[in-house]
Amino acid sequence: MNRSEIDHLQKTRWKFFRNHLKSSPFYRNQAESQAEIQDFPIMDKAIFMKHFNEINTRNIDKERAFQIAMKAENTRDFSPTINDVSVGLSSGTTGNRGLFLVSENERAMWVACVLRRVIGWSFKSRSVAFFLRANSNLYNSVQSNLLQFHYMDLLIPIGEHIQKLNTIQPTILVAQPSVLIELAKYMENKELKINPTKIIAVAEVLYPEDNAYLKSVFNQIIHQVYQCTEGFLASTCEFGTLHFHEDYLFIEKKYLDDSKTRFHPIITDLKRKSQPVVRYELNDIIHEKTDCKCGSSAMAIEKIEGRSDDVLIFKDKNSMEIKIYPDFFRRAILFADKSIIDYTITQVSDSLIEVYLGEQKDLFQKVVLETQKILNHFHIENVVIKLAESPDFELGLKLRRVKRKL
Ligand SMILES: [Zn+2]
Repeated sequence: MNRSEIDHLQKTRWKFFRNHLKSSPFYRNQAESQAEIQDFPIMDKAIFMKHFNEINTRNIDKERAFQIAMKAENTRDFSPTINDVSVGLSSGTTGNRGLFLVSENERAMWVACVLRRVIGWSFKSRSVAFFLRANSNLYNSVQSNLLQFHYMDLLIPIGEHIQKLNTIQPTILVAQPSVLIELAKYMENKELKINPTKIIAVAEVLYPEDNAYLKSVFNQIIHQVYQCTEGFLASTCEFGTLHFHEDYLFIEKKYLDDSKTRFHPIITDLKRKSQPVVRYELNDIIHEKTDCKCGSSAMAIEKIEGRSDDVLIFKDKNSMEIKIYPDFFRRAILFADKSIIDYTITQVSDSLIEVYLGEQKDLFQKVVLETQKILNHFHIENVVIKLAESPDFELGLKLRRVKRKL
């Protein structure tokens, strides 16, 4: 689709969607007065949850939805619904978890969308190995005669899945980057012998170095899905570039720096009806790509740098607050030594950074040197950089290589 086709489609869909927003007590007045998208309030998770009852169009009460979602997580039975609507919990710290509603109809659309945009149609029978933390109704519904899904439980150590993978010989491998990296190591030492035709990274940020490593081991483009509880946002074209699904997502950019290289996407999902997502600001840090060879006009992503809480924050010598984006620290690692694959950098306090380097502890002094250069550049003094014995990351959780934990 070219730009004017996308704009036209968005305009048409917005009119339908705005009409539907009359069923949301929160949006009714603005929808009835035919306000434009830009006139609607910007949402974040806190506001979204605060007004849960008024925003949703199915008259679902937050407390009730929360009980159902918690019960599903605890019993691992994800089938119960309220008024035909499934309830999901987004990941997050206790007390800060988002609640998400998906109707039967929306689920069917989600499945169609995933099949078409991510897996692609084929008349050949294919098997999909899918690493997943918690099963949910959503994933269960992606089944067809031509696709056999094998769910691999992320809570089981990866080593125990190797034999199964060798037996299944998946055509398509779906997992988060940290799991793909583990699998790549098993590929390298020849314990894992699979030959998938498509590899799809999900759920975590795929860092450029990790992407390059995976590409070299699996000898193919690593595809990505950018998806969160707020929506199915982007998937990769044949060149491996993520493009936003602008045919049904209206994306605004909130720039984060003066050079306008980084932005938070503000998304309006023109298809989502049970729980409208209107001008919802995500805290992901996106760099835009403007020259994808595939020729699609849909907004492309150069990289997802991390989330806003991956930004490290210090005080400089004049007590000014200084934000340093995760990319700076990733580059420090690269400059220290290109062979470092397995690392985490965590800001523990205003004056302490912990660095984990896996087996490559001998490179720690080089990392300290490079990290110190960044801090010096921003006139930040008196920060201690310590070697951590274990990664700041647990199996089954999302890997974030650079983050602030205060
Ligand atoms: Zn492209």
